[in-house]
Amino acid sequence: MTVYLDHAATTPLDPGVLAAMRPYLEHEHGNPSSLHAVGRVARAAVEHAREQVAAALGVTPLEVVFTGGGTESDNAAVKGIAWAAREAGRGRHVVTTAIEHPAVLESVRWLAQSHAFEVTVVAPEPDGVVDAERLLAAVRADTVLVSVMAANNEIGTLQPLDVVGPALRDRGVVLHTDAVQAFGRAPLDVDGWGIGALSLSAHKFNGPKGVGVLVLRRDVPVQPLLSGGGQERGVRSGTLNAAGIVGCGGAAALTAATAADEVVRLRALRDRLAGALLGVDGVTLNGSATRRLPHNAAVAVAGCDGEALLLALDAAGVAVSTGSACQSGAAEPSHVLTAIGAPTDRAHLRFTLGRTTTDDDVDTAAAAFADAVKRLRDAGGGYA
Ligand code: PLP
Repeated sequence: MTVYLDHAATTPLDPGVLAAMRPYLEHEHGNPSSLHAVGRVARAAVEHAREQVAAALGVTPLEVVFTGGGTESDNAAVKGIAWAAREAGRGRHVVTTAIEHPAVLESVRWLAQSHAFEVTVVAPEPDGVVDAERLLAAVRADTVLVSVMAANNEIGTLQPLDVVGPALRDRGVVLHTDAVQAFGRAPLDVDGWGIGALSLSAHKFNGPKGVGVLVLRRDVPVQPLLSGGGQERGVRSGTLNAAGIVGCGGAAALTAATAADEVVRLRALRDRLAGALLGVDGVTLNGSATRRLPHNAAVAVAGCDGEALLLALDAAGVAVSTGSACQSGAAEPSHVLTAIGAPTDRAHLRFTLGRTTTDDDVDTAAAAFADAVKRLRDAGGGYA
């Protein structure tokens, strides 16, 4: 049995969530937009899911838009909010950070290259946390959007939204946050922190792949990315994925109900794993030890090639990642590791735990890691 420690890449679908989805895959085939009884069954299920997501985040159901995933939610928020603000003559300046997911970074790059926006990209501190003062100092009179992730997907660092959000609200600037990794693992206070838009992805919290959420507060104008039938209050046209949305709602409810206990359990397991990993000579932690997600241990390993180490662990039945799965296959260090100045001459591995991770999994992974590092170093590091 594989020990799966790559929950930042994706999580297994929860069996109870699958059971809730099943009728909408098997026989409740109605289009939620149809007015007849068959359609109304699907519509009721979608609206129930919307209430579950809204309750999990402390927003109203009207503020929940279902999308095709985290990437789409990020694109819809960044491009859509920036476009709407420009149309309203409010400005063309956007602020973000150097460690955002490519869905945000490529969206702002595209706004700059194709739509004449000006973009300020704020670098993180060496511990992978963005300094709130430096971020706020980048905001100008013509800034229309600030996009800062709640938690980083590679090194797990938590960003100071509790400070940045209220300050931006006071200045009338919309804050979008990519909370794809943070949901269920770190505090999120949409109201208190003045978050204007927020992205989630169901497959990162034991829901199905290909379904996401864009929370859009009532006072945040957005220009839709997709033209079409006007579903989701016109923000996201396209026939609703009823089964996926039911799964997203069920997974959000499960996550919210169990988060407090899960965070404590995961942190203890992660600390046990990190203790063992860091006990191996020449292994250091990437990112802040304290301001980080409870399920993430991201390490740098001297004297080893990253891909060779990942493959050695894979051969031993342990699934981990080098940096971000979205970028695997790229030989050069990720933009996140580059931004924090991580050394390029060593392996960078990310271990991320989840709902099904056990003590045994962690101990098996730690032993396999120590063994793989020793064998690789004995063989010269496994460099290509
Ligand atoms: N944002 C973050 C922080 C992520 O980690 C990911 C996925 O790795 C995404 C966005 C993209 O989400 P999706 O896979 O649903 O498109």
